[in-house]
Amino acid sequence: MSAKDKLANPLIALVVFLVLTIIALLATIIIMKLNEKPVEPPRVAPIAQKLVAPEKKSRPEPVTNPVTMTRPEPVTQASKPRNVCETPGCVTLADQLLNFQDPSVDPCQDFYKAACGKYSEHEVANRRLQKKDIIIQRMIKNFLLKNETSESKSENVMRQVYRTCEGLKNEEIFNANMKTAFRELFKDIQKIGSWPAADKNWDETKLNLNEMLLNIVKLGSSNFGLFQIRPTEVPFLEVAPDMARSPKVSANFQQIIFDILEKNGLQPDENVIADDVEDYITLEETLSQYAYDYNAEKVQFSKLQAQVPSLKLEKIIEEMMNPNRKKLLVTKVKPRMVAHKHSLFFDEKMNLEKLLKSTPKRTLANYLIFYYMDHAMNGLSVHDNVIKKRNCEKLVIEYLPKASLRVFVRNHFEKGNLKIVDEMAEETKKSFIEMLQESTWLGADSKKNAILKLEKMGKMIGYPKEFEKKGALDKMFETLKLLPKDTLYGILKKIGRFHMEQGIEFVALETPMDPVLPVLMTNAFYTDRNHLSFLVGYMDDPLFDATYPKYVNIALTGNILAHETSHGFDTAGIKRDENGEVRSWMKPEDLKEYGKKTQCLVDQYNEYDDPVFGKNLNGTTTLNEMVADMIGVTVAWKVFEKLDSSKEQKVIGFENENIDKLYFRAAALDFCSLPPTTSLVEELTRVHPTGNFRVNGIFSNMPQFATAFNCPEGSPMNPKTRCSIF
Ligand SMILES: [Zn+2]
Repeated sequence: MSAKDKLANPLIALVVFLVLTIIALLATIIIMKLNEKPVEPPRVAPIAQKLVAPEKKSRPEPVTNPVTMTRPEPVTQASKPRNVCETPGCVTLADQLLNFQDPSVDPCQDFYKAACGKYSEHEVANRRLQKKDIIIQRMIKNFLLKNETSESKSENVMRQVYRTCEGLKNEEIFNANMKTAFRELFKDIQKIGSWPAADKNWDETKLNLNEMLLNIVKLGSSNFGLFQIRPTEVPFLEVAPDMARSPKVSANFQQIIFDILEKNGLQPDENVIADDVEDYITLEETLSQYAYDYNAEKVQFSKLQAQVPSLKLEKIIEEMMNPNRKKLLVTKVKPRMVAHKHSLFFDEKMNLEKLLKSTPKRTLANYLIFYYMDHAMNGLSVHDNVIKKRNCEKLVIEYLPKASLRVFVRNHFEKGNLKIVDEMAEETKKSFIEMLQESTWLGADSKKNAILKLEKMGKMIGYPKEFEKKGALDKMFETLKLLPKDTLYGILKKIGRFHMEQGIEFVALETPMDPVLPVLMTNAFYTDRNHLSFLVGYMDDPLFDATYPKYVNIALTGNILAHETSHGFDTAGIKRDENGEVRSWMKPEDLKEYGKKTQCLVDQYNEYDDPVFGKNLNGTTTLNEMVADMIGVTVAWKVFEKLDSSKEQKVIGFENENIDKLYFRAAALDFCSLPPTTSLVEELTRVHPTGNFRVNGIFSNMPQFATAFNCPEGSPMNPKTRCSIF
């Protein structure tokens, strides 16, 4: 049968038709299957893998064209739930990320501008953390405005300070209060000792310097201008040069003295007062040359006492104690009394003892009284225009930090955040140790000591646990007794004395927290005693939110935790050991290498072309903050790297951005600021580098940034040479 014949046979034709149909069907299915391949969900590679992918570096893609990995998800997947955070917290976050950025700027050219370029179009506060402080003050104000009385002693004290401060904004009350306050101040001055400027019959043979010092302590001040006695963080009770010396004597100081004397019925001699004030200013200038030195060594108290035999220091310290507990406190404080190894005490040629001997007695007596007055003025604010503008809720927070913290935590704070941040601090520590272990240049001994320092680093997340106990704070307030008729001067004086007594308890009994530590603010700090504090302001929205994707919280909170921890390893930090004692623990050869690494940052900042200040910045002043920034971002990235980013949610408006890029965008948020209004001279005194450098300078040192944004080699954010520390 010919082929033609075969086709002619209807049965064969049917079979052929069926076979062809089946083939066509199969082909269609195969083609369909093949077409399905590209719509498979893109597999997100682990971050570590993405970082080492070499072909991406050689072929940088334009910024406007996202890489395949971040391609918009195809429409066929619309039925799948969007992996995007849509909580109220995330909406606020998205709002900031979207509004602060300038999408017209290439992140590889200027990431600060790309992430923060439009910040000033949306915000009035200089930075997000300053805005948070204003909000905290407002919350405290709302609490204080409620006309309530409560069982809580500390709350009632807050209310009284606030009401008295606000009351002074009324002219009549102000005038009446000033009259009383001037009388009170004059009475207090007389309690200190005979005042040459006010006493025509002043007799220099009757001057008793130690008696005057004791009387100043009774009034609540242990800062005498000549020197001061203060609790340190470690905690020790330290005799040191004045730490809080104001740069200038109040401009109208002479007038104030006049007013006080006249309001107390005296007729002062203008020329005598002028001469006395001049002597005061001269001595003040001499003393201001002996600046407090944060890195000075501590020496035994007995060594200092031998240097200044004229002063009865132990007696003065005893006077600082709660009189009812003196017996217990004296023995506990003794081993904790130290002195600042400082030229003010130990210089051969000129020191405090020689100064006390060579200064005329009249000048000395006037000095102690003038100094007390000048500082009391701060609380008194003799000008009604100053007091009318005064932010009384801020004053309450400053003078009663712990009580204010308690109110904020009780009424506004999500306590669950404490646990999350505490865990983050532990993760930070772990990653920090890993970074040290991986260091290619740090010797084994130095590594061991550095790790020990980290392991022993103390931490306070939010507030000490002891404060959780009901009534714990009120118990502390038992010794602060305010009366309804107290003036603002009287109140602030009593609080000063209260803090002094609490300070002694802090040193002697190691009670939690230095009483004057400003704990209700948006801040975090590392202190010399190898201790990290992270305050509640930073643990509250929008700076932290439990519903943020984890990488966002690492970018924000994680970076701050890592930055503060890194201060333990900046150029001052490496001079102290795990207990906060000044002791060198880094081997000399490692120290040399460390010096080179940190110098790299100094050079980088010196040559940095800042958009506002140009190439005029000084990296020496900002060194320690840059070191903390640099180590900090490295450690925080290590924490971030451990996340499985495929499980992380995106942010509204950034659904197509990969997680690495979002991480850096979030990290930049805390540095977004208004254009600086400071002069170059002012800027050069600051310890923090400019916000622009903290983003562009520091992030450009991270190869991970260049990889995330596919920055061409040699572009500003992917430079050929980089700085790194460990
Ligand atoms: Zn810092």
